[in-house]
Amino acid sequence: MRPAEPEQLLDQTGSHMRHRPKEHPRAAVACLPLRCCDHMRQPVSVSRKNMKLVRESLDQMPYRPRCLPSESRGGYVSLFGPKAPCPHCGRNVRKPRDAKDFTCPHCGQPGPWASGDQIEAWEKERQARARYDQLLAQVSNGDAGASVMGDLRNVQHEAAYAPDELKKLNLGAWLKYVSLAVSDDIVTPEEDSHIGALVPALGLTPEDIQAANPEILDHLLIASINGGVLPEVSSPSLMAKKGEIVHLEWPADLMKEVTLREFRGGYQGFSFPIGKSGIRYRVGGARGHSVVTGTEIQVADNGVLCVSSQRTVFLGARKTIELPYAKLVNLTVYKDGVQFHQSNRQTAPLFRLRNGEVVAALVNAAAHRSA
Ligand SMILES: [Zn+2]
Repeated sequence: MRPAEPEQLLDQTGSHMRHRPKEHPRAAVACLPLRCCDHMRQPVSVSRKNMKLVRESLDQMPYRPRCLPSESRGGYVSLFGPKAPCPHCGRNVRKPRDAKDFTCPHCGQPGPWASGDQIEAWEKERQARARYDQLLAQVSNGDAGASVMGDLRNVQHEAAYAPDELKKLNLGAWLKYVSLAVSDDIVTPEEDSHIGALVPALGLTPEDIQAANPEILDHLLIASINGGVLPEVSSPSLMAKKGEIVHLEWPADLMKEVTLREFRGGYQGFSFPIGKSGIRYRVGGARGHSVVTGTEIQVADNGVLCVSSQRTVFLGARKTIELPYAKLVNLTVYKDGVQFHQSNRQTAPLFRLRNGEVVAALVNAAAHRSA
């Protein structure tokens, strides 16, 4: 706000003010040569204590200080309104411009300017939120039956969370539950269907989950494969034999000169003997990446890697490689690739794809079933 012309400024008693702030003899306030707004063009006096605050805030205010009715005390106009102590934390709280902002800015509880109805509604909402948190904790601990889900929906209404906030809470509970469920790398078919049912029940989408924790869905897939739930491709590009089920088809690159390459320590995948290590594929072994940039390994072919109930087949643009489980000795697993060691092949084909561990878990499970 611009300082007004000195001769236009009159204080409340009608005497002329000088254009520099000066101490008021009566009430220890300093007069600030400001007009309250262009509309009223009334002089405004501000207590000395608030002067710095006023000067700073005038620059940031989206609107001019309003022409507030003058306070009874000394007839000075207050820019901010009266204050009262908060009944919860005792700190002074200014009267809000909007009655909806009744919570204390210091402690977040209903402040001194809250009405009885507002306090009651706030208390009700607080209780509903506490109950909602409790129910969500049950969900994340895995003891959420149908009744808990019903209660959640009822309480959700009263808790009146903003949609974003609600989604964040629900997503947190789901991720916590799934992390718990996959921690031993096995998810039973019952757990698997429960986890799946929770997603829409909590108002989540696979995209939300993917964005929040991109690795959890792969980990879940591996754990359910270990638990005996093998995915199925509904219309596979592989010509399946009679009784053959195609479990997975992923885009893959066939890498060449793999046998010439010596993998250095940090990039080493781990070898995974098929048929000797039990049913479960343990997540976390594959630390390395299949291809270090700047090495001699190059892409030889692009295509699709199909994992079926009997074999793994690479359908490339140039060639097709069939890898039956009966001849599979072990797999070398990388974060982004998998290498098949077969007793009937001298070279071990290496494929680069989205997640080597998922393929290894699936091949392991399928090979166990077919054996
Ligand atoms: Zn307070």
